[in-house]
Amino acid sequence: MKLDRRNFLKSLGIAGLGVTFGTNSYANVFFNKNNSKKMKLTFEPYDLELKHTFTVAGFSRKTTPVVLTKIEFDGLIGYGEASMPPYLGESQESVTKFLNKVKLDQFKDPFMLNDILAYIDGIDTGNGAAKACIDIALHDLIGKIVNQPLYKLWGINPEQTPLTSYTIGIDTPEVVKEKTREASGFKVLKVKLGGGNDKEMIESVRSVTDVPLYVDVNQGWKDKQQALDLIHWLKEQGIVFIEQPLPKAQIDDIAWLTQNSPLPIMADEAFQRISDIPKFKGVYSGINIKLMKSTGLREAHKMITIARALEMKVMIGCMTETSCAVTAAAQLSPLVDWADLDGNVLISNDKFDGLKIVEGKVTLPNRPGIGIVPLKK
Ligand code: MG
Repeated sequence: MKLDRRNFLKSLGIAGLGVTFGTNSYANVFFNKNNSKKMKLTFEPYDLELKHTFTVAGFSRKTTPVVLTKIEFDGLIGYGEASMPPYLGESQESVTKFLNKVKLDQFKDPFMLNDILAYIDGIDTGNGAAKACIDIALHDLIGKIVNQPLYKLWGINPEQTPLTSYTIGIDTPEVVKEKTREASGFKVLKVKLGGGNDKEMIESVRSVTDVPLYVDVNQGWKDKQQALDLIHWLKEQGIVFIEQPLPKAQIDDIAWLTQNSPLPIMADEAFQRISDIPKFKGVYSGINIKLMKSTGLREAHKMITIARALEMKVMIGCMTETSCAVTAAAQLSPLVDWADLDGNVLISNDKFDGLKIVEGKVTLPNRPGIGIVPLKK
């Protein structure tokens, strides 16, 4: 017997129960093979203004370019974002060029993420942020179609969100102390080192607070023995882990450091895609996942699974981003050891309302999809 939609629902025992999901019937989207509804992608460049000039080992900046995306389907809008800090090599121009090649109208069903994201990944190599802004918008969209937060679709407990760190950039002792005082709502801080004033940075922070500290060197140290000596000193100062201490090319030195270090050594700049993870076993203690490197949520979720299987530590971070991409990343945060999701707090012109930091803890909105709404300005 050929099952039409009504008989199929009847066979599942849900016909007539008024089972609908959100404003749209999921069944209608799912079962209508001749669905003429199409996904429509639009995007706009946007410049994020940073509250403070941000200095890490290597460079300073006051703005970050992003591209904001929308995927419209059946009266619903999924939001996405690409953020392009200069060191990753993408720009508003490169993202625009990439997005102009994307033809989503060939796909009838936004739930076919395997197919759609394989197509997106195959358009070109690299372009992690450009790919992420599609992935995020699609996840937001499918959450809205079934009217459920993304964390529920993945079976993630929103009560288990971690604390998030707030980042203190390299600066003079006076500015570092002031920024540390401003960050009193956070229960853990991330301090950027590698600028030649490492002990002064930590002592300035420690003169204001005794919360646990993460350290990010952004490849700023060069000598493994000096690095190890400093890590022993940092352990005494209440530091939890060290992110990217040495240049990513010094693989043997990093492996030696990880073996001898009393603190976990995390990969950030060295690490982009899922295929990098197996070769990091024994080189790093763990990985820092960011949606702009992982091409979005779907690969990030797989990365967490693989890193766990290899008994590696996992942290989730972000670039300077609006609440769109940061709240998307936060959906996965109950699965990680440490979170660094402060990108939206560092900017003065956010476009969305999303995650909240409550007593230092990531707090997920109870809204469908990635959980954001546009701010009315
Ligand atoms: Mg980092």
